[in-house]
Order: sequence, then C-alpha cells, then structure tokens
Amino acid sequence: MPLEIVTIPCLSDNYAFLAHDAASGDTALVDAPEAAPILAELDKRGWTLNHVLLTHHHWDHVDGLGAILEKQPAKVIGAAADAHRLPPLDLQVREGDSFDIGGEPVQVLDVSGHTDGHIAFYMPNSAVVFTADSLMALGCGRLFEGTPPQMWASLSKLAALPDDTLVCSGHEYTQSNAKFALTIDPDNAALRDRAADIDRARAAGQATVPSSLALEKATNPFLRAGDPAIQAHLGMENADLAKVFAEIRARKDRF
Ligand code: ZN
Ligand code: FE
Repeated sequence: MPLEIVTIPCLSDNYAFLAHDAASGDTALVDAPEAAPILAELDKRGWTLNHVLLTHHHWDHVDGLGAILEKQPAKVIGAAADAHRLPPLDLQVREGDSFDIGGEPVQVLDVSGHTDGHIAFYMPNSAVVFTADSLMALGCGRLFEGTPPQMWASLSKLAALPDDTLVCSGHEYTQSNAKFALTIDPDNAALRDRAADIDRARAAGQATVPSSLALEKATNPFLRAGDPAIQAHLGMENADLAKVFAEIRARKDRF
C-alpha cells in the first residue's frame, strides 16, 4: 500500500508534508516550517508522529520543529553534512543511505545547489519524492551556496526518477515561476496549458504543489536545458547543459 501523502500549507507560501502508512500507523513529517498547522493536521487525523525528515537548514523549513516535538516527540532525520546547522538529529544521513517508514524504504539523494547539504527523500514504493527547494513546481531553488553545475547535477538526478513520481516541493511559487518559464520556453504548448491551469488553481485558492515529474520534465525550464527550442531561444545551441541551466537560472534571478 502506498503511503498517504498530505500537503500542509505553512507560513505565507511554504509546504510541509505528512507521509502516513495506514497498516503500521507510522507517520513522517517532511520539513517543519510552522508548528500550528502541522499539529492541527495530525490532531484532525488522529495520527502520531514517528519521524521528522529535514531537507535543509533554512529557517522556513525547520523553525516549527521544537514546538512540534514538544507535543509529538519523533525521531529527527537530516543531512550529516548539515548536522552542524540543523536542529539536533537522531539520525544523520547522506546520499545513498536509506531507512524505513512504515516498512517502506526511503532513499536519500544529495540535491545540493540551493544549499550545500540539501537532501531529497525518495520513496520508490509510493512513487513520491520530497524535494523542498531543489526541484520546485516549474522552478528550482535559488543558488545560495551551490554552483550551477552542482544544481544541474542535482536536478538531473531527480529527473532520472520514474515519470510517475509525485514531486512534493517546498513553496507555492508556481504562478510566478510560470510567468518566467514562458519567457524562456514561449512556444511550449504543454507549458502554456500548465500556466493556464495554474492561474485557474490559484484563482480558486488551490495549491499547485505537488506535481508530477512527467509534467515538470515537459514544462519546467530548469529541467529542459537540453531542449533544442530553449537552446535556440537563448542562442546556446549545443552548449554544455550546465551552462544552459546557469543562463536560465541567471535570468530568473534578474526576472
Ligand atoms: Zn531554502
Ligand atoms: Fe524554503
């Protein structure tokens, strides 16, 4: 049985996620932006927290942790590389490690770029990956610490997961990401359709996260550095893909 995934809006535009195994009752939280909405969701469902998975050290992904653990003690898992600047960890993990939630394996992927030490959590049996501020819906995180080649490698690793993977990312930035994406990939019909869907969803107050990896591969310019139309649009035909990615990221920073 795949895990049940619950999306929890936090702060102004963050998302946290619960992954729940009905058979064992095991529940994991991915990121802790804010305690109140997360505790309320656990209460509403009558779920007990067992694990907290932290993707990276930024305050808007960890600040709620202390207050959550006071009410719902749980085992905290995060990157060994970031142990010095994350809240205290019960388990330090790195690329290639795996652990279990409700008997289901969780694989750790290093997706550095936004920060050094940012990790993603991939659950192959449930076809879901928690990417926070690495791969985002129609976007990717700003490169605060990493280099473009590093982020390109991280995004390529995520893009290699199965197409039906659900991408649970950390922020509701999709509508502004869509406006930017259309400046890079204006003739992409799938992107134009998605942008219209996003406008409708936002007008109705709906979340645009999570999304599917297939949709990201078809529409997210940060995964599409190899696309001939995008390369032509940028005047970078046959350029090194990390360089094309770097140009797209630089334009986004100025957008
Ligand atoms: Zn961040
Ligand atoms: Fe963030």
